[in-house]
Parts: sequence; structure tokens; C-alpha cells
Amino acid sequence: MELHLPEKVNRAIKLLKDNGFEAYAVGGCVRDMIMGIAAHDFDVTTSALPEETEKVFEGFRIIETGIKHGTVTVIIEGEPIEITTYRTDGDYLDNRHPESVNFSRNLKDDLSRRDFTVNTLCFNENEGLIDLFGGTEDIKSGIIRCVGEPDKRFNEDALRIMRAIRFSCTLGFDIEKSTSESIIKNRELLRNIAAERIREEFTKLLCGKSVRDTLNKYRCVLEVFIPEYADLFGCEQNTPYHIYDVAQHSLAAVDFIENDKDLRLTMFFHDIAKPLCKTTDENGRDHFKGHALAGYVISKEILKRMRYDNKTVEKVSTLIKIHSAASPRSKAEAKFFLSNIGEERYRNFMKVRRADCFAKANPNSHDEKLKKMQEFLDEILKNDECFSLKQLNIDGNDLKAMGIKGEKINLALNSLLTLVINGDCENDRDKLIEKAKELK
Ligand code: ATP
Ligand code: MG
Repeated sequence: MELHLPEKVNRAIKLLKDNGFEAYAVGGCVRDMIMGIAAHDFDVTTSALPEETEKVFEGFRIIETGIKHGTVTVIIEGEPIEITTYRTDGDYLDNRHPESVNFSRNLKDDLSRRDFTVNTLCFNENEGLIDLFGGTEDIKSGIIRCVGEPDKRFNEDALRIMRAIRFSCTLGFDIEKSTSESIIKNRELLRNIAAERIREEFTKLLCGKSVRDTLNKYRCVLEVFIPEYADLFGCEQNTPYHIYDVAQHSLAAVDFIENDKDLRLTMFFHDIAKPLCKTTDENGRDHFKGHALAGYVISKEILKRMRYDNKTVEKVSTLIKIHSAASPRSKAEAKFFLSNIGEERYRNFMKVRRADCFAKANPNSHDEKLKKMQEFLDEILKNDECFSLKQLNIDGNDLKAMGIKGEKINLALNSLLTLVINGDCENDRDKLIEKAKELK
């Protein structure tokens, strides 16, 4: 197979080599190229020491943030390329960071410190592919395998536990037996890892190919940082609608929905409160009253604990709050729905509902309703029909001029909007003023 690096990466490698150093593209970008996936960032590894790299790139914009670990970021044609000196890591005492890093002039030293064989591949256009740990073979067979002794590698940096299951999920690879056993054995070490770092890997995992499979296999790892999920496994749903327990239902819904981070988080957590809200009636049928609202509260708490940003927390928890709302059956209902939640959430609600249904006994039970919902939206937008205060052809100032004051203004505006949505008044300024007078 022919591999090609972007010109700017070739340029960086060539400059280093012209100055007498070794240099290769390394890690994820080479792995992705071999798999035919578009690489999103290019890392370069080099025998040049950081100060030597800086000298080679004199005249380029350089960012020094990673310099302690040997990384110099060079901006080439407007894009950052991380150039890191070959290094070996000193002792790891905290399951997180090496006590020190030592620079090396030997490529193999650098490759041995990397996490998985598939992440040790190097490439430049002169020398071609360099594969010292069987990474190519493991890519071919679809295997995640630690470089070196798994227990040792996971003890050095426990984040690698998350990285292994993340790569397994995103690449669709199996985890080699001794690596897999070591993950399970050492999972508690994840407690030493910062929530932000776990979050990053977890988010990527959720956007992977086979979330349900991966998280079923590595359920015990998941439960280290989301213990709440343990109650979803085995929480049966004896209702006519369900065929799975809450965990299998949720994970199937994650796999179904498009791989957008917020939507995947929503499906993952949408029924998190079901175990808490479960009751069984005299006929043996289960009910989960209030689980959406309780799910809003619980998911918010978990997402915050995982250090998701406020926008994500709000967006996801709010979708969870509304996920089981009745879908609008008329255009007027659709407008009320829109006025409450806005257009973006209306669209997301449809996606969430579709995924939620897909993971039930009758996957197509809501197709008609969702089709209608879409038609209502298309029509409302196409005709620019009024569903919000912003679109109403009267505003607070008009009402003030009529002597309406304070809180009553908002109340009046909302009443007028209701009249317009229900078709009881045209969205016409004069007619609205007439109505406002009546209301007053
Ligand atoms: P992606 O960027 O697609 O998430 P990646 O493999 O490029 O995947 P990065 O986090 O960008 O992952 O890391 C680049 C490379 O650095 C990896 O391919 C691997 O060789 C090495 N690496 C990253 N994190 C670790 C770690 N915790 N332990 C050992 N090596 C690591
Ligand atoms: Mg990368």
C-alpha cells in the first residue's frame, strides 16, 4: 500500500533530516493512514533534542507548551505539527506520570514507551514504514495489544486502560487476551486518573462503532467511573414495549443514534433513573414514572462530575428531561413544542425518540408520529409561521404604550402567542392590538 503524508509534514521531516537528524511521522496518524482513515493530527518523532528542533525551525512560529516532555509545536502553513524528541519515561510512581523523561537518540527507545503495538508505527517517504513491534500485523488482524508487559504498562499509566477499550470500540478491534485480562485486573487504578482525561477517552469511546459490545465486555471498567450504571444492568423492563433490560436498551440506542457526542451521551444516560423510579403493579407490569425528570437531575450530576463543560451538561440533561414527552399530533402542538424547546432541540428530540424506539420491541412504532413531526416542522419553517414571541407582530413596547405593566406584559404576550398558534387570531399588528385591548 502507498502511504502519503501531507506536504507540510514531509517538509518538517525533510528539514530535520537535512540537518542530520532522524524524523518520522508516528503513532495514530500512521495507524489511521494504513487503515485508510483520514488522520486528524500528525505527530513527528525525532532524534533532535528540543533545542535542536527549535533551531531547525528558526523563523517558523513555535509553541513551547510541551517542551518539558520534549514536544515542540511548529506552525507550518497555518497548521500545528507536534515534533517530539525520542524519549524514554522514568519511573511511574502514581499510575499517571513518569517522574522524569529522558531524551534518547534511539528510535526503538521511543517506540517502546508507546501504549499499543498499533500505535508504534513510523513512516517517512525515504525509508517507508518502520514496524518494530508487529503493529502492521495487529492492524491487519484487528488487535489491540500492549507494547511490553500489560500489567506493567497499565500500572505506569492507568489511562491506557481507557485508551485500550476506546481504540477497541472506535477501530472495531479485539483486545488481545493478556492485555484484556490485565485491563480487568487493574481497572481500579483508573481512580488515580483525572476525571478530564477519562472523560476525553470515554467521549471518543461513545462515538465508536460498537459501544454496546465494548461496554458489555468491559462493564466493570465503566463502573469504576460511572458506578450508577451498575443498576441498569439487570434492571428488567416488564412492559409490552421493551425487550431488553435498561442497560442493553440504552446501549443499543447509543449504537443506533448518529455519532454526535451530545446525542450519544443523551442515549447513554437517558434512562439512568429508571432503576430508581421502577415500580411493579399487581399485574406484574413495570412502570418508571418520573424517570425522565429524575434522569435530568442525575445525568447532570454525573456529567458535571465527569467534568463535561456546562454547555454539554445543559444540552444533554435537557434532552433527557424531555425524551419521553408526547410528540405533537397537530401543527399547533408542534408550534407549542417549538416555542418551548426551540428548533435545534426539536430536531434532536426526533433523533432521540427514533433511537429510543429502535431499541424497543417494536422499532418502527413511532415512525408515523415522527414523520408527522418532521412535516409539521418543514411546513412551519417554509411558511415562516409564527411559533415564538420573537415572530409575533407585536412586542412589549406596544403593550406598555397601552398601559400594561410589569409582569403582565409577558403574560399578555404569551396569551397572544397562544391565540396566534391556535389560529384564533392572525399574526397581524392591528388585530393583535385589538386582542390585547380585550385581554386588558
Ligand atoms: P487519536 O489521536 O486518534 O485519538 P492517537 O493514537 O493519535 O489517537 P494520541 O493521544 O494523539 O492518540 O497520541 C499519539 C501517540 O502517542 C499514540 O499513538 C501513542 O503512540 C502515544 N501515546 C499517547 N498516549 C499515550 C499513553 N498514555 N501511553 C503511551 N503512549 C501514548
Ligand atoms: Mg493523535
